[in-house]
Amino acid sequence: MIILLGPPGAGKGTQAARLTAARGMVQLSTGDMLRAAVKSGSALGVQAKAVMDAGALMPDEVVSGLIAEQLDVGADHPGFILDGYPRTLGQAQALDAMLVAKRLNLDHVIELAVDEDLLVDRVTGRFTCATCGEGYHDRHKQPKVAGTCDVCGGHEFKRRPDDNAETVRARMAEYRAKTAPILPYYDERQLVTRVDGMASMDDVAAAIDAVLDK
Ligand code: AMP
Repeated sequence: MIILLGPPGAGKGTQAARLTAARGMVQLSTGDMLRAAVKSGSALGVQAKAVMDAGALMPDEVVSGLIAEQLDVGADHPGFILDGYPRTLGQAQALDAMLVAKRLNLDHVIELAVDEDLLVDRVTGRFTCATCGEGYHDRHKQPKVAGTCDVCGGHEFKRRPDDNAETVRARMAEYRAKTAPILPYYDERQLVTRVDGMASMDDVAAAIDAVLDK
């Protein structure tokens, strides 16, 4: 199992998707799980929508419960990528307890280090194909033919409602206050590798590959 750690827009989801395609690893994104709950209109979804719109964090026990449900695996499992979890020290401790209970090993914590001001530009411009999930950007990566997905030819695109400048700043403040402090927790165990998240997508991918293949 690996953890991808970094503020919103650092590239966690992009790199997790790539590792899934390249290595068959399994991405567990609490953000994706919560967005699915919002879409379903469940009680959890109603709570999550309010929290996500504010750029705040869901309670530890809720997100840890979501992860725990996904961790039952067979011996030939290709490994999990945790994307967006843990986000607090309480979650990191809950994860440790789950790892012991499920006999799983945490191999690496990869920190995607980034420049926050540039991130706001990255996050507020991003959108994805509604059909296949391919990522695009208003300023850096438009579809080759306007309005048509390069990968699947789809014509519908979507944006996350929490990718507006104000909410992004709130999400970054949460990252600084609550998530960055878990780095020393893993540093003590020599699990953390810092990767330059402002490098190109391919360079970040190569740096992550180097860590996994060490
Ligand atoms: P993400 O897609 O990882 O950027 O997550 C989007 C939003 O979902 C966050 O801004 C939080 O409101 C919520 N969220 C996702 N993962 C967690 C987590 N591990 N702990 C608390 N809240 C979370």
